[in-house]
Amino acid sequence: MRTSELLAPTLRETPAEAEIVSHQLLLRAGFIRKAAAGIYTYLPLGRRVLAKLEGIIREEMDRAGGQELVLPIIQPAELWQESGRWEVYGEEMFRLRDRHQRQFCLGPTHEEIITALVRSEVNSYKQLPLLLYQIQNKYRDERRPRFGLLRGREFIMKDLYSFDRDQEGLNQSYAKMYQAYTNVFRRCGLNFRPVQADTGAIGGNYSHEFMALASTGEAVLVYCRECDYAANVEIAAARALPKPVAETPQSIKEVATPGQKTVAEVSAFLGITPDRLIKTVFYEADGQLIAVLVRGDRELNEVKLQNFLGCRRLSLADPEKVAAATGASVGYVGPVGLEGVPIYADAEIPYLVNAVAGANRDGYHLTGVNPGRDFRADTYADLRQVEAGEPCPQCGSPLNQARGIEVGQIFQLGTKYSQALGATYTDEQGREHPIVMGCYGIGVSRTMAAIVEQHHDEHGIIWPLSVAPYEVVIVPASLKDEAQREIADSLYKELIAAGVEVVYDDRDERAGMKFVEADLIGYPLRLTVGKKTVAQGTVDVKWRHEGREIALPRENLVSRVK
Ligand code: ATP
Ligand code: MG
Ligand code: MG
Ligand code: MG
Repeated sequence: MRTSELLAPTLRETPAEAEIVSHQLLLRAGFIRKAAAGIYTYLPLGRRVLAKLEGIIREEMDRAGGQELVLPIIQPAELWQESGRWEVYGEEMFRLRDRHQRQFCLGPTHEEIITALVRSEVNSYKQLPLLLYQIQNKYRDERRPRFGLLRGREFIMKDLYSFDRDQEGLNQSYAKMYQAYTNVFRRCGLNFRPVQADTGAIGGNYSHEFMALASTGEAVLVYCRECDYAANVEIAAARALPKPVAETPQSIKEVATPGQKTVAEVSAFLGITPDRLIKTVFYEADGQLIAVLVRGDRELNEVKLQNFLGCRRLSLADPEKVAAATGASVGYVGPVGLEGVPIYADAEIPYLVNAVAGANRDGYHLTGVNPGRDFRADTYADLRQVEAGEPCPQCGSPLNQARGIEVGQIFQLGTKYSQALGATYTDEQGREHPIVMGCYGIGVSRTMAAIVEQHHDEHGIIWPLSVAPYEVVIVPASLKDEAQREIADSLYKELIAAGVEVVYDDRDERAGMKFVEADLIGYPLRLTVGKKTVAQGTVDVKWRHEGREIALPRENLVSRVK
């Protein structure tokens, strides 16, 4: 590629909206441009990096036995209604109607659509196991799209789904994906850690997140230097918690304590029926925890509730995780959310001392639970709970804490979707079973940004060779010098013939300006053809990651850099 023909518009100034370095550099070096909040165009250089990433991912997925397909982006509401997620997905889902008023969404993920496919195409144990994947755009109307490609509203994901006959098969598929993810992120040059992400109420290793370590990461993890223990902060906090003190099973109505807002008031305010008020949401106001149970359009409710209740939102809690943390059976934790029972909504209450934890039915509750003492469901509270120095649950050494970017997650789903959608197979005896599933995602565009977060210096990006848009840039010091130009031309042709991905900076510009741009874009190798090349037959060779320049003979240069 000749630079004179390449659309790689670089910016001298750092765009004001870009807060972190990957966003700044990808804009400045001409890899991406913003179209709308969280929605980006990938310019030719950006597209090439994506293609490299996708190539690595494809190889590793195929090696693990994956088969690539393409699922639709536009998905019918009916499938999501079958799984029950049309209601619970909330405002993160982009919804639309066709001209006949039928409802659709832009796929935020693809469990429903692929389970429906497998439901109709797979019916015998002979067809299992199956690993199906795609690399495609995903759509999530994130509340705060930010940090460029790290949190987009349109982003690229590789998602693979595994289909097995039983838990043992799932364990094998999961192990294959764990290894494949490790290979992918290693080949991308990332410094990363797999962390335990969710052990659920049933126990066992059900999910891992792959975290690229970065101070700008939105996720927090704890890890042990002495053994292989690593977990995201929610899991680590759940593990570090004491068991609840009170264990008197009691109907939730019996533990009602006067509060400020009733369920009726809250549900009327939200315009929903009281029975939808069963999801746990935690708020913190001036260090005080306040809980409300809400299900439905979660994001919307949260913002609205926040204003209504006059408190500052910190984070959402997963009821199952919290239930596991408190030792209660699956259900919810927090103050009671049934008709006529108060919801605690007073920012002045120091701690919610009379919270209830337990299953979502009468008689399965722990009373007298103190959220501040007995569980911490809030991310910031988690941080306080799992201070660096907590003992490692495996070996007792002090734990360390780090920030990370979640570049991938693998998850054992079990039969959640196959049961909801009726995806079954028959075994050797003709008996019918639900298919056992797993799902496995990699944020492809997010990974591109994570690589830049880890590989840059004050001059620009330093692409690892495996994902660089081009491997080599040739910079002729002076194109007006015919001898120099001839050598640069021949070098360019030779490199192309040798299969090297090379950019030839053939513009009529100062060499200094070309060097600055080459450093900003981050080509791994720079070859400078100058006076010395003509006089002494040497080319100045500079590896971007080293910064040191050495003169190598022109003659066998191509075979040496290949
Ligand atoms: P996060 O916790 O950052 O919101 P998530 O847990 O919601 O991510 P998953 O549903 O696990 O994301 O999706 C799989 C992968 O897709 C993530 O590990 C991440 O790499 C990527 N991803 C998720 N949301 C985004 C986004 N808004 N922009 C870019 N990549 C994303
Ligand atoms: Mg998310
Ligand atoms: Mg996540
Ligand atoms: Mg995730």
